[in-house]
Amino acid sequence: PGDRAAADPERALTLGVMGGGQLGRMFVHAAQQLGFRTAVLDPDATSPAGLVAHAHVQAEYLDEAGLQALADTADAITTEFENVPAEALRRLAERRPVAPSGDAVAVCQDRAAEKAHFVGCGVPVAPHAVIADEAALAAVSDDLLPGILKTARLGYDGKGQIRVADRAALEAGWAELGRVTCVLEKRLPLAFEVSVIVARGRDGRVVAFPLQQNLHRDGILAVTTVPAPAGTPALEAEAIGCAARIAADLGYVGVLCIEFFLLEDGSLVANEMAPRPHNSGHHTIDSCDLSQFDLQVRAMAGLPLAKPRLHSPTVMLNLLGDLWFDAAGQERTPDWAAVLALPGANLHLYGKESARRGRKMGHLTITGATPAAARETALQAAALLG
Ligand code: ADP
Ligand code: MG
Repeated sequence: PGDRAAADPERALTLGVMGGGQLGRMFVHAAQQLGFRTAVLDPDATSPAGLVAHAHVQAEYLDEAGLQALADTADAITTEFENVPAEALRRLAERRPVAPSGDAVAVCQDRAAEKAHFVGCGVPVAPHAVIADEAALAAVSDDLLPGILKTARLGYDGKGQIRVADRAALEAGWAELGRVTCVLEKRLPLAFEVSVIVARGRDGRVVAFPLQQNLHRDGILAVTTVPAPAGTPALEAEAIGCAARIAADLGYVGVLCIEFFLLEDGSLVANEMAPRPHNSGHHTIDSCDLSQFDLQVRAMAGLPLAKPRLHSPTVMLNLLGDLWFDAAGQERTPDWAAVLALPGANLHLYGKESARRGRKMGHLTITGATPAAARETALQAAALLG
């Protein structure tokens, strides 16, 4: 599609996205900035992205008529969450350019395949074993305990995983997870968690965002800080190098995020990857001259990728549904006016109809002239939000 001008007034091209969540919504906003029309496929009538796109195909991800309608409308198609069936992307690819490919997304959907891919790229991973049956369970080495048992598929935000201290807990945990294929990982001594986001074009050019430092609460991302306080130029180069190899070996086109553990001994271990823009990159909308969504649009439309530049140190706070309830459990609206009075505060709300505990309702990006200034304001924002 990139061979035709994005903003051709004769016929604006349409970019399609599988999934209508907040990532799709921010993708749609970025696409619209470049003059593209947008189409979203999502089963939910009031999905955050469906509400702001030019067209909303309300259908299940594997519904043939829905896929047909999306392919009829969109000139190129991407995905906004990794659990869209890879099969749906493969079917769409028979009709339209699809980026990232169903094959690349399939690797990201399976922790065992993902780890094998990392290893194949020479990227260090946690010691682990794949548990697909009783025999594999019995053969697990004691070296992997205490560990974390994770379902190979469909886990996110800490769901589908159980911490197991010993063999008895491992057996009970595997039963609790329904004896589906799992990956058992050795529990590592984490000093910090970091992530890096790269975008790879059809020509193989890779550009990267700066290293991001992430704090999780209850398995859900809570805070991202950039520049990463624990980062060094060498560490950043190592992480970006790993991400670029992982992307190249997948023949990847689009935005890819790799999450890493920084261990107490200073070594870097890849944890998992997301074949799409990532929550830890939401700050880029406000802190960089090009956002992760801008680069996703460019990559899938075949437009040039330019290297993004961080122009402001930043702290991103995720806004979970919990903030919409007071201590007594009564619904309330957070005091946005007070938050917006803070310098460098950019509030993003995703337009979700109802708040639930643990549900991602929005995020707040705080930029500052210095890392200390951004941090100071973020602490004030956190205090205001309670
Ligand atoms: P999810 O798909 O839910 O994000 P992750 O594999 O990223 O699953 O695990 C969630 C969190 O659990 C990580 O961000 C990290 O804090 C912790 N964790 C996961 N694996 C390990 C490990 N091997 N050692 C120590 N902590 C871990
Ligand atoms: Mg994770």
